[in-house]
Amino acid sequence: MRLLVVEDEADLADALARGLRREGYAVDVASDGAGALERLALTPYDLVCLDLNLPDIDGREVCRRLRTDPRYQPEPGEAAPRVLMLTARDGVGERVAGLDDGADDFLVKPFDFGELAARIRTLLRRDAARSGAVLTVGDLRLDSARFEASRSGRLLDLTAKEFALLRYFMTHPGAVLSQEHLLEHVWDEHADPFTNTVRVTVGTLRRKLATGPDDSPIETVVGVGYRLVDATRPEAGDA
Ligand code: CA
Repeated sequence: MRLLVVEDEADLADALARGLRREGYAVDVASDGAGALERLALTPYDLVCLDLNLPDIDGREVCRRLRTDPRYQPEPGEAAPRVLMLTARDGVGERVAGLDDGADDFLVKPFDFGELAARIRTLLRRDAARSGAVLTVGDLRLDSARFEASRSGRLLDLTAKEFALLRYFMTHPGAVLSQEHLLEHVWDEHADPFTNTVRVTVGTLRRKLATGPDDSPIETVVGVGYRLVDATRPEAGDA
C-alpha cells in the first residue's frame, strides 16, 4: 500500500513517515498543498494522510481538487485514494465540511500513533471490502496488526517488503497486477523504476509461499503481470 503524508510540521511528518514505514507501507511525504497535488497527479496512492492546515493550499482545497479535478481522477483499474484528514480543530462544522469535500475520515491532533495506524488499516480494508485486521485468501492468512502471515497454518518468515507485497496481493485477490502497478503501490518514490526489484521480490515471496514444487498461489500471467489465486480451489493453476 502506497501512502502520501501531507504535513508541514517537519518533525511530525518525519515521525508519521517512519511509523507508517514500520507498519509496512510505502510512504512519500509532501510538506505543502502544492507538493501534495503534484504527487497526486503522478502516483495512484492508496491513502492520503492530509493535514488540514497547510501553508499554501489548505487540506480541504487539496481534497476538493483531488475529488473533482479531472487530472487527479484514477486511471481504469485504479481506485481513488482514501483520505484521512488530520486537524487541530475539533469543531463538528469543520468535520462536516471536510467530509463534504471528500475526506473519508478525520483524526484530531494531537493523536496517538496507534489510533492513526488503526484508522488507516480500517480505511484501506474498506476498499477491499474485508473485515477485521485479518485477510484470508484460500489457505493464506495475513494479520496486519500482528505483522504475521501464514500458509496452511505455517508461519511465513517474510521481510517487511515481502509482507507489504503479500498484503497488497491479498487485498486484490484474482486481479492481474503488472510490475508497474506493484511498483507504484508497494514501493515509494525512491524506488528505481529501471531495476528488477519487483520481479526479484515477487520471486522470493513466491518461493517462501510454496509448500512444494509449482504450488505457489502467485501465478505469472505472461506478458501482463502476476495474480494471487486461491490455491485451495480446484480450478487454481488451470490458467
Ligand atoms: Ca499544519
